[in-house]
Amino acid sequence: MSKIVEQNTPATPKGKKPAGIRDVPLPKITKGAGMPELVRGMKDVLPNESSWWETLQENAADIARGYGFGWIETPIVEHTSLFVRAVGKQTDIVEKELYRFVDQGGDDLVLRPEATASIVRAYSEHGMWNQPQPIKVWYWGQMFRHDRPQAGRYRQFHQCGFETLGDDKPVVDAEIIIMSWNYLNDLGLKVNVQINSLGTTASREVYREKLVAYYRGHRQELCEVCKARLTKNPLRLLDCKEESCLAIRGEAPQIVDSLDDDSRNHFMRVLEYLDELEIPYVLNPHLVRGLDYYNRTVFEFVLDNADEASQNSLGGGGRYDGLSELLGGRPTPGCGVALGIERIILALKSADIRPKPRKKPQVFLAQLGEQAKRTALKLFEVCRKEGLQVSQAFAKDSLKAQLEIANKLGVPVTVIIGQKEVLDGTAVVRDMESGVQEIVDKNKLVSEVCKKLQTVADRRDEKLERLVESSPTDPTNVRSAKDSDIMLDGLEQEDGLHNDLLADIDKDLPGIDEEPKISLDEE
Ligand SMILES: [Zn+2]
Repeated sequence: MSKIVEQNTPATPKGKKPAGIRDVPLPKITKGAGMPELVRGMKDVLPNESSWWETLQENAADIARGYGFGWIETPIVEHTSLFVRAVGKQTDIVEKELYRFVDQGGDDLVLRPEATASIVRAYSEHGMWNQPQPIKVWYWGQMFRHDRPQAGRYRQFHQCGFETLGDDKPVVDAEIIIMSWNYLNDLGLKVNVQINSLGTTASREVYREKLVAYYRGHRQELCEVCKARLTKNPLRLLDCKEESCLAIRGEAPQIVDSLDDDSRNHFMRVLEYLDELEIPYVLNPHLVRGLDYYNRTVFEFVLDNADEASQNSLGGGGRYDGLSELLGGRPTPGCGVALGIERIILALKSADIRPKPRKKPQVFLAQLGEQAKRTALKLFEVCRKEGLQVSQAFAKDSLKAQLEIANKLGVPVTVIIGQKEVLDGTAVVRDMESGVQEIVDKNKLVSEVCKKLQTVADRRDEKLERLVESSPTDPTNVRSAKDSDIMLDGLEQEDGLHNDLLADIDKDLPGIDEEPKISLDEE
């Protein structure tokens, strides 16, 4: 296998287009060699993780809509030059981590390592400066870096990001930070914002010189990586986690002392807006971010109780006013954030937070006999089109097996169709909690099911009211099944306060708080 990887970067004779991937021989197929495995550093996301993925994506879309950000999707494949220019030659991302290849046409391409450069490219390519400014977009997608795989870090990973282009006001930076913080906070994660200002390219240059002068004096004490950074990428000296380097960093000049007046004012305004909304932030003079294109505000989101060594940020971003010009476009200020989805899920898992699926099945459709199966198939479509959340196990023939699944899913209502019902044009509607069954006209099934759902919801509300009489919180306006679900969700988030209450509800209403487990392993 490794031989093929090496051949992926063919030698390019001067003046000639590089050889394409088709010049690399295809791997030989050996009989009985077994199924090829998952590529190292990659990850399959399986259905048992879907509640996290769906919630994260849906919440991101909600937040984006709420703040007026439109969806954008740029291709995964871009020209290598885009990232060499944008991210910078001297960064790890470009030097070591690019998934780079020459395609059949001989083009030098990469799988994108991040999305901001692509979005700035798209802004320019589609003349978005002609539209009212700023342009606010959000994205969700795979990024690729050939990094060392570790917990929560993969070579193909997902980022969700919000970007505002065409406006250089501090309130733009604040909005990006506020919406990202809200996104993480709504998920139940306690995070703070680490924030710094890098100033303008000019003031950053002044600082860079001061920094190099300072670190030169300590060259002997630096780790090997930092010795190289001294000439290649001095700002990254502040990122080093080696103990010897951390000790030197303590006395290093701070970038805020080199800020020009405009950048200082810009930074103060951003902080004032965050204060106004009580967003918790920490001034971190050592925060420089990994990419070359940032200026002025840079920030990261860090878990509240994370210690310095394992301080994994869940995401971050900053202002990139010079990026468009760097790429050869017209001057376009911008500010954005990228949040690491796998890292957020890891944080949720360690904090034992399991997001609730938004749509729980309301009805289970059970059938007995071949004729009934056909009718059930049709009724399923009717119910689904009417907006009911229907579940079924059409592959099962035994009614007992089907009802067991319905029970596991915790559906309040099951519809049963057997041979007799097919002949009569009826269906049995069963209230799963009380066990009460009714025979209804097949053509009135949807309205009958809705009635039954309402009965179940009313009963749950009564039960809830009785239970909360002794509780300090007085829930009001609980009128439908949907509303009581929302309320239960809300109650659960108030840590500890209603634990006993919820335990009782769980006991009495089986399945209401459980994620439906789609039984992949049935039989
Ligand atoms: Zn170091």
